[in-house]
Amino acid sequence: MKRFLIFSAFFLAMQGIVAQSFSDYFEDKTLRIDYTFSGNHDLQHIEVSELKKSDGWYGRRHNLDSLPLRGNGQIYMKHKGKVVYATSFSSLFQEWLTTEESTKATKSFENTFLLPFPKDEMDVTINLTNTHNKVVSELTYHINPKDILIRQMKPNKEQKTRYIHKGGDPKECIDVVIVAEGYTESELETFFKDAEIASESLFAHAPFSANKSKFNILAVGAVSKDSGVSIPRLGQWKNTALSSHFSTFYSDRYLTTLHIKDLHDVLACLPYEHIIILANTDEYGGGGIYNSYTLTTAHHEQFRPVVVHEFGHSFGGLADEYFYDDQFETQYPSDTEPWEPNLTTLVDFDSKWKDMLPKKTKIPTPIPPLDTEENLMKKIGVYEGGGYQSKGVYRPFYTCRMKVNEVSRFCNVCQRAMLRLIDFYTK
Ligand SMILES: [Zn+2]
Repeated sequence: MKRFLIFSAFFLAMQGIVAQSFSDYFEDKTLRIDYTFSGNHDLQHIEVSELKKSDGWYGRRHNLDSLPLRGNGQIYMKHKGKVVYATSFSSLFQEWLTTEESTKATKSFENTFLLPFPKDEMDVTINLTNTHNKVVSELTYHINPKDILIRQMKPNKEQKTRYIHKGGDPKECIDVVIVAEGYTESELETFFKDAEIASESLFAHAPFSANKSKFNILAVGAVSKDSGVSIPRLGQWKNTALSSHFSTFYSDRYLTTLHIKDLHDVLACLPYEHIIILANTDEYGGGGIYNSYTLTTAHHEQFRPVVVHEFGHSFGGLADEYFYDDQFETQYPSDTEPWEPNLTTLVDFDSKWKDMLPKKTKIPTPIPPLDTEENLMKKIGVYEGGGYQSKGVYRPFYTCRMKVNEVSRFCNVCQRAMLRLIDFYTK
């Protein structure tokens, strides 16, 4: 009994410390920073375009000074030189830098991040890293919370929203929004049904299934003038809420939006941390960018597995485990350990799933004979091929939700990685 009391007192004291540290530095408000990332293969720049604020902070109030994952870029808020909040991300701009177009053209991309609103003056440092994990561009911006030019955001009162799933208080849960893209006013009921399918699909997968109470899913009925989304290869351009289009980087099935500020304007003042955009089309495609957004098509027959796969990217920071035979060393050079938890180049395998591996596992692990999904997903190993490369990159299981649409779940390594993130955000 005494032991229990001592433990309780200690636990309460710890809770006090955690709660105090958030309110020491931050108000219960959100600071939105709109950045522009610009440049080309050789030279990159970061600029601040605008600061905004809204009431309520719906991100984490724990582990404030640690990164959830390394990502392809990091943001650090510093008060008198001390890191008081940190987060990480990936961006479409950095992906574009790996394309041939970036060796010939210079472009700019919008990027928006939400941070807790500081009580006192702070420096916000953002950096972009390359595939060798070297910082290639960095910007520090001094924030004065009393700056009269920080625009107060207003909620979109006419916009229809609906909770699809409510696990608890938005200030304690992980808040996911599902946003309509390419749905007209009269198609909004279809959108809300599609959002329910997306939510069901997510919760049909571990580790989300056992952690429903830690998530809220809010559907946001953004209205588009036109029905459907833009398909450039067919010459079809539509007027939609988020101006998304297929053929990103000239890849037919790659569906993204470059209008990130519009996306966050649609979501103004709502409780959200992670974004899923559903496109009203039966074309196949999508994309998912870590701590940015997932975008997928709602009426293709593969909608259910694809939306979960893309959320694996945008929420879990998971890499694609599929690969092409003719592509080498573009994204994962052999001298650098990838930051994504489900791939390794063996540079620092200790930081990955080595602890889950039976002793004497062969590296590379031989491909198992094709068997039932259940058996294939039991055999953890170090299988060569992943991250679009057939050589030099290894994945943990023969198959996974991050490799093909035909299986029913994430491999155990992907599950563990996402469970760690859920705990990081909520404990
Ligand atoms: Zn996996």
